[in-house]
This record gives sequence, C-alpha cells and structure tokens, in this order.
Amino acid sequence: MTFDNKKITIKGARQHNLKNIYLEIPKHKLVVFTGVSGSGKSSLVFDTIYAEGQRRYVESLSSYARQFLERMNKPDVDIIQGISPAVAIEQKTTARNPRSTVGTSTEIYDYLRLLFARIGKTICFDCGNEVKKDTVASVCEWLETREENGKFYLGFPIHPHEKRSVIEEIELLKKKGFFRIIVKNEFVDLSELDNFRDFAEVEKEDIIVVLDRFKIKRKIRELLAESIEIAFKEGEGRLLVINADNFERKNFNRFYECCGIKYEEPEPRFFSFNNPYGACPVCQGFGKTMDYDMNLIVPDPNLSISEGAIAPWRTPKFSKYLRQLIRNNKYKIPLDKPFKDLTDKQIEILKKGYDGFEGINGFFKELENHTYKMHIRILLSKYRGYTVCHACKGSRLRREALQVKVGGLSIFDIVQMSIEKAREFFLNLRLSDYEKTIAQRIYDEILKRLTFLNDVGLGYLTLDRLSSTLSGGETQRINLATSLGSALMGTLYVLDEPSIGLHPRDNARLIKILKSLRDIGNTVLVVEHDPEMMKEADLIYDMGPKAGINGGQLVAHGTYDEIIKNPDSLTGKYLSGKLKIPVPEKRNTSKTEIIKITGARENNLKNITVEFPLRKFVVVTGVSGSGKSTLVHDILYGGLVKMSGGNPPKVGKFDTIEGARYIDNIEIVDQSPIGKSPRSNPISYVKGYELIREIFASTPQARARGYKPGYFSFNVPGGRCDTCEGDGFVKIEMQFLADLYLECDDCKGTRFKKEVREITYKGKNIVDVLNMTVDEALEFFANHDKLKDILQTLSDVGLGYIKLGQPSTTLSGGEAQRVKLASHLAQRRKSQHTLFIFDEPTTGLHFDDINKLLKSFQMLIDNRNSVVIIEHNLDVIKCADYIIDLGPEAGDRGGEIVAMGTPEEIMNCDSSYTGKFLKAYLENH
Ligand code: ADP
Ligand code: ADP
Ligand code: ZN
Ligand code: ZN
Repeated sequence: MTFDNKKITIKGARQHNLKNIYLEIPKHKLVVFTGVSGSGKSSLVFDTIYAEGQRRYVESLSSYARQFLERMNKPDVDIIQGISPAVAIEQKTTARNPRSTVGTSTEIYDYLRLLFARIGKTICFDCGNEVKKDTVASVCEWLETREENGKFYLGFPIHPHEKRSVIEEIELLKKKGFFRIIVKNEFVDLSELDNFRDFAEVEKEDIIVVLDRFKIKRKIRELLAESIEIAFKEGEGRLLVINADNFERKNFNRFYECCGIKYEEPEPRFFSFNNPYGACPVCQGFGKTMDYDMNLIVPDPNLSISEGAIAPWRTPKFSKYLRQLIRNNKYKIPLDKPFKDLTDKQIEILKKGYDGFEGINGFFKELENHTYKMHIRILLSKYRGYTVCHACKGSRLRREALQVKVGGLSIFDIVQMSIEKAREFFLNLRLSDYEKTIAQRIYDEILKRLTFLNDVGLGYLTLDRLSSTLSGGETQRINLATSLGSALMGTLYVLDEPSIGLHPRDNARLIKILKSLRDIGNTVLVVEHDPEMMKEADLIYDMGPKAGINGGQLVAHGTYDEIIKNPDSLTGKYLSGKLKIPVPEKRNTSKTEIIKITGARENNLKNITVEFPLRKFVVVTGVSGSGKSTLVHDILYGGLVKMSGGNPPKVGKFDTIEGARYIDNIEIVDQSPIGKSPRSNPISYVKGYELIREIFASTPQARARGYKPGYFSFNVPGGRCDTCEGDGFVKIEMQFLADLYLECDDCKGTRFKKEVREITYKGKNIVDVLNMTVDEALEFFANHDKLKDILQTLSDVGLGYIKLGQPSTTLSGGEAQRVKLASHLAQRRKSQHTLFIFDEPTTGLHFDDINKLLKSFQMLIDNRNSVVIIEHNLDVIKCADYIIDLGPEAGDRGGEIVAMGTPEEIMNCDSSYTGKFLKAYLENH
C-alpha cells in the first residue's frame, strides 16, 4: 500500500452512528465539519480521528502507558493513514489548580517571572532609589566621575564580630599586616603604637582600615582593580572610598542593600505565589484573609447611616457606637446620604474611628475581648468573610517582590492590567542593550502571547483573572492562543465550535488565527456551524442527512461554492438562502409586565438601569466581555433568587429589582451536565424512565418472577450488574493520564443481569429500549400516552436522534441544555409563571436545529412563561421580541446599554455593533 503524506485517509469509519464512511482530508488545510446536531461530526472528528491521533501519541510514550494501549477503546474504523500527533483545543478548563489564572495557564506569568528576575529593578522601601549591589566595576565607574587629581583613600570597615573587643580586632589587623587606620577623621599608624589601650572606648564602626591611597587619573581601573577586590574581601563585602581632604566617605557593598535594609536579589521563584519563598506570609499566597467584611457589615448600601446602614449598630445593645458618631461627628461624615455615596476616605474614618468615636474596627476589637461568650462568637462570625489580604493587597506576593519593577511597574501591576493594555505597555517598553542581551527572547515570548490573546478577542481579560471564572468559549480561545504560542508544526488540531461566545464582530479575527495556525504547517479540523467560518474554510464536509441512525454519512464535501451548489447538502441550502430561518411575521410589541433592575454595577457594569419585558422572547447581546453574563447571571438571576430567600452562586451589586411579584419561578437552563454519573441519562432526567420500568414490571414474565419496577433500574441493587454496579464499565486510574473506562466483563456493557435481560416487551428487552433513539421509542411506545408526551418534548427540542439510555457524561453541553429544556416543557406547570434564562442555547446547533429550538421557546412563552437568553447567533437575534444590547466594547469600555428595543430599532442604532451586523446579515439573505 502506498503511503501518501499529503492527506489523512480514513476507511470504514463506524464509530457510533457513522455509516462505514470513507474520506480523504488534505493536510495543511482549514477544514470545517458541519451538519445537524447528532449527525456524527464529533464521532468522526473527535472519537475517530483525534482518538487515533492520541493512541499514536500514547504509543510513543513509556511502556507503562503502553500496557493500557490495547485496552484503550479503539475507534471503530478499518484504516487511518497519514495521521499526525493530535491536539484538541477544548472548551473546558483542564486546570485543576484553583489558583490557576489566565496568566499562569498561558505561561505568560512564567515568562514575566523570568523577565522580572533578569531585568527587574528593586526599589528601596525607604528612599525610593534603585537598590544596587556594587562590583569592582561600579566602584571604578564612580571614581571615574570624580575630579582628576583628587586624592582618596581606599579602605574597609571592621566587621562587628560579637565576641571580639576593639583591641583584639586591632591586634589582629596588625598581625595581618594592615597598619594604617582612620579613627573619626584622624589618621593613625599602628606601627607607631606599642599598645592599643586608647582604643578601648572607640566604637568599631568608627574605625576604617586603609588599604591604599591614590590620585584620580586615567586608567584608574587597571591600577585599582586588584586593591578594590582585596578591600571587598577583607571588608567582608563592604568597602569605603574616603576623600583625603575632608574625610567624606562613600560606602560600597556587594550586598543587595539600601538604607540599611537588606534586599534579596530577584529570582523567578520570588514572584511565584505557589512557592513558599514568594508567597505573602500573611495569607500564604491566597490573596485573601478572613476578616470583617464591609459588605456584610453594610448589607444595604442604599441606606444612610442614620437609617441603620451599619447593621451591627442597629440593636439597642450596640447603638451607643452610632450615638458616639452622631454626637461627635468631627469629620462631617454625611449621616443622611446613602452609604454607597460615601467616599473611600470617609469609610476609612468610620473604620478607624477617632477620639470619642470607637469606629467599626474599635467596635469589633472590643467584642473580641468577649469571645468567651458564645453569642458574641456567633455575632462576630456573621460579619466575617474573605476579604483582600491587607499585607499583600491581594497580590499574593511578599512585599519585597512588589518592590521589583520593570518599566516602573511591579509584576502585580502588570497582571492587573487588561491584556490589551499590557500589550501596549510591552510595545512601549524600551530595553537597554544590556537588557536586550539577557532578556530579549523572554520579552518576545510575552509580547507574542499577549498579541495572540488580543487577536482571539480576549483583550479585555486581565492576566490575574481566575481560570475557574471563565466561560467555555473564553477558555477555548485561551487554549487556542496558548497553542499558537508554542507553535508546534506538523500537528493536527481539532476544535469544537471555537466561535462560541464570540460576537460576529470578533469572528474575523478568530478565523485569521485559525488560518495562521494552518499556515505555519498544521492541519486544522473544526466542528462549526458559523457561516462566516465556512466561507473562509478551505474545505467543508457536510454530514447527515439527519441525526442519529438517520445520519452518519458524508452528504457533501467541497469548497464553499461547491457546497452551495450541491443539491444534497442541507447546509448548502441554508448558506445559499434557499432555506432559511424565517423572520417572525410580527413581533410581540404589546405592553407586558416588566422586571426592572436599577443601579447594576457588578464587574464592568456602569450603574445601569435595565427593563426585562416578561412573557416575551428577550435576547441580551453585545461583544464578548461587554457584561451580558454579569447582568443576566449575577444580577437578574442572583438578585431574584436571593430576594426569594434562595442561595444563588453569586449576587452582583445593584440597587433595586422591581417586578419580582410577576413571576413565580426562575430557572437557568445552562449547559452543565445533567448528571455526573454515567448512570444518569436523558430518559431518566425527563422522568420517563419510571414509566418504562413500570411497563416492563407489568409484563406477564416479570410478574411471574416477581420483578418489581426497581429491578429494571441501574441505580439500585437488584437487577443491575453487581460487578460494575450498573455503569456498564469499570474505571481504571492511570497515574499520569486521564482515567480509562473499560467495558465491564460480566455484563459486557449491558449494565443488567442476564435474567433481567430475558424479560421482553413487544420483543425488546430493557437494554434494547435504552438503546433506542427518542424517535424510535416514540413509535415503539405509541399507545402509552403519558410516556409518548414526554418523548415528544425531547423530539420537539431536536433530540429525536438521541438514545434514551445514552450516559449523560457523553452528552454535549448543548444536548444537556436541550434535555433540561425538554424536561421543563414536559412539566407544563401552566399555572406557574417561570422566567427561563438560557446562555448561548445555539451551541452545537445547525441552522436546522435552531429552527426547532426557536419553536420550543415560543411554546414556553405561549404557556405564559418568560424567556431571556444571551446569544450571538444572528438568526436567533433577528427573531427576538426585544433586544438588550450591551457594550459598546468589552471590559472597562463596556458595561453600558447601547440600545434596547426590537431588532428593527437596534438596526437603526448607529453605535450598536449588533445592529450593524444584523443589518448586513439580513440584507445578504
Ligand atoms: P454531532 O457531533 O454531529 O452532533 P455526534 O457525533 O456527537 O454528533 O453523535 C452522532 C450520534 O452518535 C448521535 O446519535 C449520538 O447520540 C451518538 N453518540 C455520540 N456519542 C456517543 C457515545 N459515547 N455512546 C453512544 N452513542 C453516542
Ligand atoms: P459577557 O458575558 O458579555 O462576555 P461578562 O459579564 O462575562 O461579559 O464580563 C464583563 C466584564 O466583567 C469583563 O471585563 C470580564 O472580564 C469581567 N468579569 C466577569 N466575571 C468576572 C469575575 N468572576 N471576576 C472578575 N472579573 C469578571
Ligand atoms: Zn497576603
Ligand atoms: Zn457490568
């Protein structure tokens, strides 16, 4: 067989639903795989091509890893040729370290540490000058700036050894052959003295040993270098140059020292908060400490001090502190203004107190004297929270590390800047020639990585942002930028919907990045639904024709132009406009109740007031980082849940939320997995499995053997396989690799005992039923109305192709979200009015799927519910009843409302990027 190195050849791919397909993918191209959700894109790209690439990689590893190779599930494929080591750029954070930040995960922080260690200048705490350590060269440099023919002595101080007296020191000097000393501006020749009794009262530091006497002239370096070296050695690191005319002294030392403070020379671990050497000793590098938290002490900053803003002082017992302040308000702190309007300085005074007013700190200090009382301990704990560490101000580094500066900034200053600003800083940073020789490469690496991050549209993030707070799309783009930074060549990159979370405005930059990844010699395979990406790809593979068993084929492939013309390609029909997602005939512009948020100011939100109309299809738009998640998750959701007595993950800052009484419930339907155990699955999540178990338990066979419904469950012992406890596979923990899952030997992956598998309904056993797709089950259970209704909702949200028993761990985020949506549709609590929130629900969806999804939203709204979604997809945005567009830009330059209204109104707003792109999109279609 000939081996063609220019393409990847795949023969007989049958993984999951793939229909024994054959394809040849040319290398060094940007290739898009598209098709309706469930058509088999991931099965081909990730589970076959990437999995094989990974197998090849493991093969090249140690024999320890290799022994598991034959047990690793091989993709179901006959032949794969021409594959290179594969890298998947994923949407989930792989970082297990909770301290991981954007800076550390992109390696920028490592390079910054190196840079600061090499060229950082330590600034003295006291005098603000640069701390320098002297050398022979620096002493000579100083001398060269003196006047020619000036007379000087070269000397060194006596080391203050504890145990030796002054007299003993002088005797020792004489023994070593040093005869001349200066004592308090007086010249003494030791050889002329018989004894040193006169020195008994002299302090050691007043004595300088003179080594040499010289005049300033050219070539002083050559003349003095040796003496200076000796002086440093004898002085144990210190020496002095003394003006022979006026005895003025100039100190030099080889220590890193200034103003009597010893500093440590920077080295990389100095700047690592994961290292005990660099970490702040107070908070151990955590950046926060347990302390009294102003947010807890003043829970409602809309209140004024006289209205009781300071919560602990509301009780009669402690109101005396408040009275102290009112009686003796010597700093004129406004008592009738809302607390939030006080200045930082006024709050500082409130905390510190003054003569006649204990202040908040004083109040707590006093209580702390009574902590032997239980109720005081409880009271104190109510106001304690994690607050920024006072020692390191949240930098997590010891304070000496913050004194080291590059271009006038500390490493902490830099990681607090947005990536965009940090990039500008480095672009403007001028290195000296010497600095260039020792740090140019490091500098280049930093700048390169910052540029990549900026190019993938993440310029608004700060380097110290915790990785755990990033969205999936942001994480993937960071991983993408990091891969670019390491610039591997000859690699196969696979990406899953990199456009997620990106506004159309930033799409072009992402595409450019993927192309440059290709241009440096890599093959880039992308699963993607974005029309722009397809237009720019070298090649498109369209999979289908439908989902699940009705898919798994390559229906078309070719360039964008070829796909558009191909009558078999559903994608092509949408791209050419033959098929389209219709713009609604008319929008719901009637006046409905609203939820009104005032004073929203979490993260970058600029104290905004927003109205969410209820019982409408509301879409929140804006570039990535403009504040959409903050507004919707932290404030709308967090605020409403907290007001109803719940405990949301985060509550952002705002003044008021009105209109909560118009809704009974609020639900976030997000993309998190529907269950962490492989035993959870779609049919159990929508509560259909109970019905199926009853059907099996009521068969004559089951009744004869006395099998109850629970016997058909894999969550409780009984009918399930005892070896794998109903998982179908067993987990093997690998030391250095991800855990391996191997099929259970006993039940052969069926999860049930043999006797349970013998029970059949209409010729199928429970294992067969769990292997049915939703659409197959709809037919199979046609005369079970209740079950049919439930299955229908799964089909309605576009999940007809999914298997009833597919482990929830294998569902994509988008699929998990739609299962949740189906479960809400199935519940049909008509009397209840629920506000549903979705975050990018189109993730993983093809044009055709989006059509279905929009209908499901409408069903929710028709049932008197409300829907608020965050979305970038223009096909969805154009269908909104009402749009809230945030921006104009990301981060600091965002957080404001750019426009609100119908899509038509948004399109007429010149300052809205969303409006501009929507207009262009609708004109082209
Ligand atoms: P796409 O990426 O196009 O959305 P997938 O390749 O994920 O489609 O899915 C193709 C079919 O294979 C679907 O019917 C899906 O339910 C099924 N499938 C995917 N992963 C698994 C799995 N781990 N086990 C069983 N079936 C799976
Ligand atoms: P969007 O949802 O529009 O992409 P976000 O609401 O996620 O925007 O972010 C708005 C701004 O707030 C950005 O500058 C972002 O970096 C910042 N931000 C978001 N979450 C956090 C967080 N947990 N910690 C610090 N900053 C955050
Ligand atoms: Zn600290
Ligand atoms: Zn088993």
